[in-house]
Amino acid sequence: MANKYKYFVGNWKMFGNFSSLKMINSVNYHINKIKKKEIKVIFCIPNILINHFSKKLKNTKILIGAQNCHYLQDAGPYTGSVNANMIKNAGAKYVILGHSENRIEGDTDEIINKKIKSAINNNLKVIFCIGENLLEKNKNLTNKILLKQINKGLNSINTLKKIIIAYEPVWSIGTGKIPKFEELNKTVFYIRKKLSKKFKDKKTVNILYGGSVNSKNVVQLNSIKGINGFLIGGASQSKKKFIDIIKNCYM
Ligand code: PEP
Repeated sequence: MANKYKYFVGNWKMFGNFSSLKMINSVNYHINKIKKKEIKVIFCIPNILINHFSKKLKNTKILIGAQNCHYLQDAGPYTGSVNANMIKNAGAKYVILGHSENRIEGDTDEIINKKIKSAINNNLKVIFCIGENLLEKNKNLTNKILLKQINKGLNSINTLKKIIIAYEPVWSIGTGKIPKFEELNKTVFYIRKKLSKKFKDKKTVNILYGGSVNSKNVVQLNSIKGINGFLIGGASQSKKKFIDIIKNCYM
């Protein structure tokens, strides 16, 4: 079955406050003008904003997600942490897991696997980030790294129903650099092939590309058949940049 939706996921990182709701409201206004039903716009925002924003955006096309969660499902003595249940309870529908910025801070493939299971058990959809760093790319290890991250991160998970893959080359995040067209095409094909071997889901998995997406490069990125949308960091913090990325995919 072909994938129905095109995803535009904003990763706000440590950005935003209560007044940032205005920005999301104007994104909503603009996407309503795009007469496409098959569009999913998700803002993954700081935890403190989730409850308020998800209530205010209830009758809009915008969905709210978190950017991380603890790997334990139950309450526990983990100062400053929130678990998947708390995020869900606050109103999030999605959570980003395995982001390279969290891997750098200590998230191993095993921890990410526990987080994914906890998120799924709590009925959250997971945006699972994978990607090689520059050293690995230069040593031609991209496919090997991606396979390891997939196998370990999705260990003993038997369906991709609640999982969206975000391929984010670490060297591309926040740098303005993106992979060459042919290279990206091949990598996405490789990810898809490995996932279809591992999982028997009828519906093919959604694969997003993330890393320095902007309103110009998105035109070519969007022409890659295997890509179902984008995970957008820096540019999702600006109303104009984010709206222009979406508009340029439908011109
Ligand atoms: C990200 O952090 O997920 C990301 C894609 O960032 P940027 O778009 O700023 O490269």
